Amino acid sequence: MPFDKIKFCSQCGSSVKRIVPSGEHLERYVCSKCGHIHYQNPTNIVGCIPVWKDEVLLCLRAIEPMKNYWTLPAGHQELGESTRDGAARETIEEAGIEFKIARNPYAYIDLGKFGHSHVYYLAHMTSEQCAPGEETIEAKLFSFDEIPWDRIAFHSVHKVLRLYFEDLEKGHFPFHYLEYHQHGPFA
Ligand SMILES: [Zn+2]
Repeated sequence: MPFDKIKFCSQCGSSVKRIVPSGEHLERYVCSKCGHIHYQNPTNIVGCIPVWKDEVLLCLRAIEPMKNYWTLPAGHQELGESTRDGAARETIEEAGIEFKIARNPYAYIDLGKFGHSHVYYLAHMTSEQCAPGEETIEAKLFSFDEIPWDRIAFHSVHKVLRLYFEDLEKGHFPFHYLEYHQHGPFA
C-alpha cells in the first residue's frame, strides 16, 4: 500500500514516526511530541465521459504525467463538493463543453489499494463546441473505431472507455463497479 511520506507533524511541527498506534492495527505517522496521528485514506478522482451521438470526447493532456496522451476529463474531488459536482467542474475546466450530466454515476473504479477511486458520470453534450482549458492541448470527438487505444493515458480511462462502447453497442448503460488492479500510465 503506497503512502505519502510525512516528515513533520501537521499540528506542532515536531518529527513523526511510522508506528502502529495503540489500539490500531495499521502503521501511521504519529507525532513524537504531541502524539497526533496522521491518517491517510483513499481519495476520489471524479470525471465524465462526454458523449455526442456515437462519439466520446477525449482530451489531449498538456501536463505531466502522460503529456500528449488522451484522457477523459477528470481530477481530484475537492472538499465540500459532491462527486457529481466535481466531475462536472473538471469537465468544464478541461474540455470547456456544454452538457447535461447524468444523475447517477456510470462507473466506480475502485483502486483502493493504490490510494484512490475513480467515479465517472456520463455527460451528454448539448453541442459539439469545446473550449479546452490550460491542462488540455486539444479536445476531440472519437467514434469507437477512431479511439487512439495505444495513446490512452491511464489504465482506468482505457477500461471505462471499453465499458462505455460495449454498452453503446447493447444500447443500455448499467452502473459498473470494478475493483481494478492495474493502475497508472497505460502506454
Ligand atoms: Zn505534534
